[in-house]
Amino acid sequence: MKTLFGKRRRDLLAQLASAKLHGLLISRPANWYYLTGFTGDSGALLATKYGTALVTDGRFTGQARQETSGVRIVPQSGSLLDSAGAWLVGQRVRRVGFDPQQVTVAQLAALRKATGSRVTWVPVAGLPETLRMKKDPSELAQMRKAALLASEVVAAAANLLKPGVREFEVAAEIEYQMRKRGASGPAFETIVASGKRTALPHARPTAKRLAKNELVVLDLGVILGHYCSDITRTFYLGRAPERVRGWYRAVQEAQVAAIAAVRAGATCGDVDAAARQVLAGHRLDRHFVHSTGHGLGLEVHEDPRVAKGQTRRLEPGYVVTIEPGVYVEGVGGIRIEDDVAVHVGRTEVLTRFTRDLIEI
Ligand code: ZN
Ligand code: ZN
Repeated sequence: MKTLFGKRRRDLLAQLASAKLHGLLISRPANWYYLTGFTGDSGALLATKYGTALVTDGRFTGQARQETSGVRIVPQSGSLLDSAGAWLVGQRVRRVGFDPQQVTVAQLAALRKATGSRVTWVPVAGLPETLRMKKDPSELAQMRKAALLASEVVAAAANLLKPGVREFEVAAEIEYQMRKRGASGPAFETIVASGKRTALPHARPTAKRLAKNELVVLDLGVILGHYCSDITRTFYLGRAPERVRGWYRAVQEAQVAAIAAVRAGATCGDVDAAARQVLAGHRLDRHFVHSTGHGLGLEVHEDPRVAKGQTRRLEPGYVVTIEPGVYVEGVGGIRIEDDVAVHVGRTEVLTRFTRDLIEI
């Protein structure tokens, strides 16, 4: 595992060289883990062509020494950014990148003050994130397990869906089941929506009781061994009316088409269009109010975005969600979501639970 982190740092240095940078300030904890194995949540990681340093405070220095290898652990003295700046000045690096999506204006001012004119700070977005899109076999193995665990939790939750149960009770049971089965926690706040509330794609669970003849949407994911999963299934309490069945079939067809469009070389926009086209054929495209999917890995939403017009091409090792939906305000919504890995010449659906409408 430790050599794996070393390889990732070498890949990052190659990126820095082509961006004509001598170093990079990395401020996102998921990137710290990806590049070093460090799991603390306070610090600054500095990657330079002369070596990598992790500046962190007394709560984390011991942990950082245990978790990392080949990384200089620099105890923070004074403010974090002063310490980071001082270390960089000592390395005599001149052009250092930072992610403008992570570093605030105030933090950039503090960094400039700490390094003076000896360092030029260069905005460069998402360098480790680009590496993270392509999962290696050990990451894929972990993601398979995370996806299977989420699928098992959906199966367990399906047994709880009955009239009278409150949405938040179902959500609590789902998150209990995740931890009981070994997850370190939910990958995001579990969505349990019923009735008209299913028309809200990101409904938080409320005190509403499930009722007969209603849709129920469960959207959940786990973190297992640092990696996330994300699955959505839609249920009907009772026998679904023909209109709901029609919507469900359309969403299912859109999902099948989008999964079929996932392959190395296809653009993310093509995959999104595959889902949208099917829904347009059913005159439901205006009810599909979000993008088709997103990258998945150490974080639940990562690059690439599977959305309209996205020109990024899928490559072997990418894992994306495919989650078309139809939402009719005042009536209800349907979404089906699975996690899909791209391989050479084939794709693999990691989540395993029936995609047919389940009537309970
Ligand atoms: Zn989801
Ligand atoms: Zn998702």
